[in-house]
Amino acid sequence: MISDIESIRKDFPILGHTVYNKPLIYFDNAATTQKPRQVVEKIEEGYYNVNANIHRGVHFLSQAATEAHENARKKVQQFLHAHSPGEIIFTRGTTEAINLVASSFSDACMQPGDEVIISGMEHHSNIVPWQIQAARKGIAIKVIPVGEKGELCMDRYKELFSEHTRLVSVTHISNVLGTVNPVREIIEIAHTHGVPVLIDGAQAVPHLKVDVEALGADFYVFSGHKVYGPTGIGVLYGKEEWLDKLPPYQGGGEMIATVTFEKTVFNELPFKFEAGTPDYIGSTALAEALRYVETIGVENIAAYENDLMQYATEKLTAIEGVRIFGQARHKSSVLSFLTGHIHHYDMGMLLDRFGIAVRTGHHCAQPLMKVLGIEGTVRASFSFYNTKEEIDTFINSVERVRTLL
Ligand code: PLP
Repeated sequence: MISDIESIRKDFPILGHTVYNKPLIYFDNAATTQKPRQVVEKIEEGYYNVNANIHRGVHFLSQAATEAHENARKKVQQFLHAHSPGEIIFTRGTTEAINLVASSFSDACMQPGDEVIISGMEHHSNIVPWQIQAARKGIAIKVIPVGEKGELCMDRYKELFSEHTRLVSVTHISNVLGTVNPVREIIEIAHTHGVPVLIDGAQAVPHLKVDVEALGADFYVFSGHKVYGPTGIGVLYGKEEWLDKLPPYQGGGEMIATVTFEKTVFNELPFKFEAGTPDYIGSTALAEALRYVETIGVENIAAYENDLMQYATEKLTAIEGVRIFGQARHKSSVLSFLTGHIHHYDMGMLLDRFGIAVRTGHHCAQPLMKVLGIEGTVRASFSFYNTKEEIDTFINSVERVRTLL
């Protein structure tokens, strides 16, 4: 149970700000989350006290920084319930992690005519990397359709497999519809065909308990900045057996064992995939963010946010002319809507004047917008630091905009 919301909010100084003389109501958490004091202090502490390039140094500071970075990797491993730290690759974020898999997997495991299955509710970052590989390697992309309620059509999914299917790559939670996809079932079905699965966990890791081993995911990716950590750091989890098979994504320092002008022997996991100086300050701050989340409790967060979602959905549905996109049985923390004829951009601009930060537009999911037959939505997305009082203000403000326009 989350009971002391006020003390949680005190950890996030930005939540005390005002915009246009109104208290800030931050409902753009699916785009990025705010950072608790503990995470910001970790960054400061890193630069003030533990800053030296890692892995190559014999001196004290370098060893301390290396230890902090590798401990951060162990924290991520434990958080995701991965088998070993070697299965945790630090990347710049979800986007880079998917690009890494798309590039290395298609190089090692795909021939012209092979197929990858994605879904109709993917973020561009789980569409475009595959299109780049389609152009490079002549592979084909198949798409699981999205049904009326915003759920994946699982029967159609099963029909997409062929002898050429090499990988399934789908999102855990839709950043537009809030749908929590049945990823365990998706993985089980793929595995019966001997096909590995990548799960885009960008919207899931901040909101629910993720256990990559229990899910059976072959690859699982997420971004630090969406889970209260810093920008510029993210994670690719990959089963060791897969990561071992894949070639490096980039070449450079750190990822090598030996180099001559004739030949390079690559380093062991995870370093094979981490060319160049890693964001060792970012990794330790990300680990701090995960610790923070654990202190509140992932289950407590899920329960609190689900309550907020239910409250907001009921209130929003009661407003005349509101259409909510995404009516899935399992939803999480994302509420996309349109109000009558009001353009999403106008609604967003006016809500901003009331101090309310929401996102408007296609949310990097243009193909899904096409299926929905709209240009964009207004998206309110919640965190455990939001309150029902904030939702009341939001609902009153939507109502005011509706009567105004
Ligand atoms: N996948 C999903 C489902 C997302 O919501 C996002 C960001 O909104 C991304 C991928 C891309 O994340 P990033 O920009 O942090 O790489």
